Amino acid sequence: MELSKKAMSISPSSTLAIDAKAKKMKADGIDVIGFGAGEPDFDTPQHIKEAAIKAIQEGFTKYTPASGTLDLKHAVCRKFKKDNGLDYTPSNIVISNGAKHSLVNAFQAICNPGDEVIIPAPFWVSYPEMVKLADGVPVIVNTTEEDGFKFTVDQIEKAISNKTKALVLNSPSNPTGMIYSEAELRQVADLAVAKGIYVISDEIYEKLIYDGFKHVSIASFNDKIKDLTIVVNGVAKSYSMTGWRIGYTASNAKIAEIMGNVQSHATSNPNSIAQKATVAALDGPQDEVDRMVAEFGKRRDYMVERINAIPGLSCIKPNGAFYVMMNITKIIGTEVCGAVIKGSDDFANMLLEKANVALVPGSGFGTDIHVRLSYATSLKNITEGLNRIEKFLEK
Ligand code: PMP
Ligand code: GLU
Repeated sequence: MELSKKAMSISPSSTLAIDAKAKKMKADGIDVIGFGAGEPDFDTPQHIKEAAIKAIQEGFTKYTPASGTLDLKHAVCRKFKKDNGLDYTPSNIVISNGAKHSLVNAFQAICNPGDEVIIPAPFWVSYPEMVKLADGVPVIVNTTEEDGFKFTVDQIEKAISNKTKALVLNSPSNPTGMIYSEAELRQVADLAVAKGIYVISDEIYEKLIYDGFKHVSIASFNDKIKDLTIVVNGVAKSYSMTGWRIGYTASNAKIAEIMGNVQSHATSNPNSIAQKATVAALDGPQDEVDRMVAEFGKRRDYMVERINAIPGLSCIKPNGAFYVMMNITKIIGTEVCGAVIKGSDDFANMLLEKANVALVPGSGFGTDIHVRLSYATSLKNITEGLNRIEKFLEK
């Protein structure tokens, strides 16, 4: 019997696939260096864990309201006020099982069949598939390394049609690490308001920023753009809480209600204990975040310098997140370890097999001349991984 055409058109997440492969190799006793999935290597801060333990001991282990506890929604509102100058009330907030789930809810809430969603490339692997799951049509706008992987407002304007429903904005970006300035975001906001399109603003890397750059939420400029924006955020990256699975959105109350309804049938509430832990993360001391950012900054500098010193490879310096897009144009078409590298998949596969280094091919991010390395791993691993890449290319 035929299975769902829509579901069968969805490709697996390449970030998670590489991560699973690398973890399996490690479990089999192979010494793999993982530059794959974007997952901080730090432990979750102690005060957050203690809040979770307390929640268990106090019996906070039952269903909560499907779209999250009021307590956590208030904490999220305080976070938006403090970090982004945004005023929301709990009716604007939906708590979900990770920011990935928040994004799925957002596309489900706004898309009708055939609606177009503009996604700048390189993009995080899941955006186009999430749009397709919501019966929408991803419209890709390509950016180049020469332009710092940033789109121009002109490019977005040209991509807008009478079917355009939304634009996906991801600053700081996964996979490129680029950040849009306030001036650039203001132009995007003006365009979105003029054309009446939604902005899905994925701000999950907002705290992972280097070189004195500043994160600004596009929703904060005026009430019109605030009404059109679904801000997506979560605790996975900033607080090293990837496994806890808490993400959240802020949107107008109508969209929040729809997302809450969808979620109430799909998953019910996110984990009650993790919700308590998230209140502690958002309200508690932020010094651990600063410590992590300082450490990521050092790793980034080292990785960028090493890559640019390896013949045939290059990269630009990212200003945020914890990824480097390594340009492999000069390697493509050459023979390494006895085989011709035809694109980013070949490069990533061969590197994993022959040098035991895991990284993510650019193909899943919409660029076949790059591969993505995550520097959310120790300097020791980064040094060893880059030594291996250097040796691999010498062959
Ligand atoms: N958005 C981006 C850009 C990401 O890189 C991730 C990473 N997983 C997510 C959303 C989802 O985060 P999570 O579901 O772990 O909260
Ligand atoms: N977002 C991270 C990444 O891009 C984690 C894996 C995932 O959820 O895709 O590697």
